Amino acid sequence: MKTQVCIIGAGPAGLLLGHLLRAEGIDCVVLEQRTGDYVLSRIRAGVLERVTTGLMERLGLDGRMKQEGLLHDGFNLADGERLIRIDMAELTGQQVMVYGQTEITRDLMDACEGLSVRLARHPRRCAALQPRTDLRQP
Ligand SMILES: Cc1cc2nc3c(=O)[nH]c(=O)nc-3n(C[C@H](O)[C@H](O)[C@H](O)COP(=O)(O)OP(=O)(O)OC[C@H]3O[C@@H](n4cnc5c(N)ncnc54)[C@H](O)[C@@H]3O)c2cc1C
Repeated sequence: MKTQVCIIGAGPAGLLLGHLLRAEGIDCVVLEQRTGDYVLSRIRAGVLERVTTGLMERLGLDGRMKQEGLLHDGFNLADGERLIRIDMAELTGQQVMVYGQTEITRDLMDACEGLSVRLARHPRRCAALQPRTDLRQP
């Protein structure tokens, strides 16, 4: 297989990069050692910063996030009985989006038409995708 860019890992970073490259007309393939089910059931982050929501908006992949995500203006720090409000919207003019990492990964995977994402077919790790250490540096 020939491609301009090979991205290792279909986590949010790999998938988002794949979409950004495709939007610039750069051919790429995303290789993932785990199955799609595994990747989509791996619970992790839930808070997205402005730069991430901005990139999803730029790619036109922000529809479900805007519909189902929750915008937060800030958060509370607990000091014993006292709650200290950190009002990010007032301090920075920015909000954060509460939207699960698995959901953003699903949106990026669902929009993969034209972007080659190769996921492992079996739950076991795919040895072929382990990084090679026997290659000489150019
Ligand atoms: C428990 C937990 C809670 C978190 N909470 C937050 C939070 O609240 N807010 C926040 O901003 N961040 C949080 N994070 C961090 C956030 O989840 C990560 O920053 C994010 O997952 C990074 O994305 P990524 O695509 O770089 O890496 P990953 O999501 O780790 O994706 C990398 C992918 O590469 C694959 N891979 C690795 N090696 C190979 C190989 N050799 N061949 C093929 N595929 C390979 C892996 O299987 C994986 O799917 C949390 C992380 C964890 C673990």
